Amino acid sequence: MTIYRGTFLDTPDNPFTGGRLRAEADHGLRVLQGFIVERAPYQELVRTHPEDEVVDLSEGLVLPGFVDTHVHFPQVRAIGGLGMPLLDWLEKCALPEEARLADDAYAASVAADFVDGLARAGTTTALVFGSHFPGAVDALFTEAARVGLRVTSGLVLSDRILREDLLTTTDRAFNEGLDLAKRWHGVGRNRYAVTPRFSLSCTAPLLESAGALQAEIDGLWFTSHINENQEEVDVVRQLFGCDYATSYDNAGLLGRRSVLAHNVHPTVGELRMLGASGTAVAHCPTSNAALGSGSFPLGLHLQHGVRVALGSDVGAGTGFSLFKEGLQAYFMQQLMGKERGGHRLEVRHLLHLATSAGAEALGMDDCIGDLSVGKEFDALWLRPPFGCTLDVALRHADTPEDALAKAFALAGPADVGGTWVGGDRVPTGT
Ligand SMILES: [Zn+2]
Repeated sequence: MTIYRGTFLDTPDNPFTGGRLRAEADHGLRVLQGFIVERAPYQELVRTHPEDEVVDLSEGLVLPGFVDTHVHFPQVRAIGGLGMPLLDWLEKCALPEEARLADDAYAASVAADFVDGLARAGTTTALVFGSHFPGAVDALFTEAARVGLRVTSGLVLSDRILREDLLTTTDRAFNEGLDLAKRWHGVGRNRYAVTPRFSLSCTAPLLESAGALQAEIDGLWFTSHINENQEEVDVVRQLFGCDYATSYDNAGLLGRRSVLAHNVHPTVGELRMLGASGTAVAHCPTSNAALGSGSFPLGLHLQHGVRVALGSDVGAGTGFSLFKEGLQAYFMQQLMGKERGGHRLEVRHLLHLATSAGAEALGMDDCIGDLSVGKEFDALWLRPPFGCTLDVALRHADTPEDALAKAFALAGPADVGGTWVGGDRVPTGT
């Protein structure tokens, strides 16, 4: 048995429906075989369990591990391509790098950088856009299993518009996806997601084959992009003769195991469809701002009962840290306000969007997302270097809530002192 001592903050109840931020200083979590079995003031826990090992995390804050619901594995080395809208950025920045993952050795080195980047940022669970190449998807799952993160991912599919070396066929996509899903879905912490790139680069038969694959094996996930950029949205409407959400719905791809990234430009009809089907949306605010895609109407999503969580969207997003995504979401919603479809956020919302909302969107809220008894111990320890501005701010915070607001304002991967998944400390830089 291990007792973790620290200041713990989490959101066991959804703040968008009245849940509060739970913040408890000098508390203890007692962990057995990866699960939290007891939660109490630290002094009380050590008095009743003097034989337990103690891990002292009392400098700084302990949060649930971050859940990134949209991040591209092949794009870690493409971060920072500023100054372009989506379609130019893809052509000039992202896709040339993605094509390099045809080489298995190159893909393995990218997988190592990618998984390490997630862990260093405090991300313990991620829905990952894989690669167009099966060997590279194998490399990602292999590395995630080695390090111990919870990864849901799959083979990325396209059969038009993109460069030739990234295209597939309907039959090949199905067969390669089936092989990968059989090899990885439900193995350790890995799960498989059918991953058509976006309707722009997928014909209706390819989307239908993705829907067929999702139906083929129990519990597979579906992820893709939707309504990111107005030019892209217009082309999809011309290609399919319907709105973006309907292009996926027609292939049977919307439901409670579906997560679509962006949705910056939805119609009311699409919001209704996403809400009714239980499809979740990954909001990626630094990417939306960096590509000039637009302002995410969070308020409209909430009004229509659409579940929303955060995604970093690396490499259009500007890094792995969900502290930064939370801050950018905060900025964006502050500027939009209710009148423009926004929803002004408080710090409890930011923590929820980065943790428990992601766990819920990925159907994992029964085991992760907060630090309640019965959940697995997935956590990040925020412990900034001594003397840096965040360290000064935390030492002078009035309350744990105030400290958390300072964390979202100032923290990055360099301030994460450790990450745990299922009670195991995640190695970094190995
Ligand atoms: Zn993306």
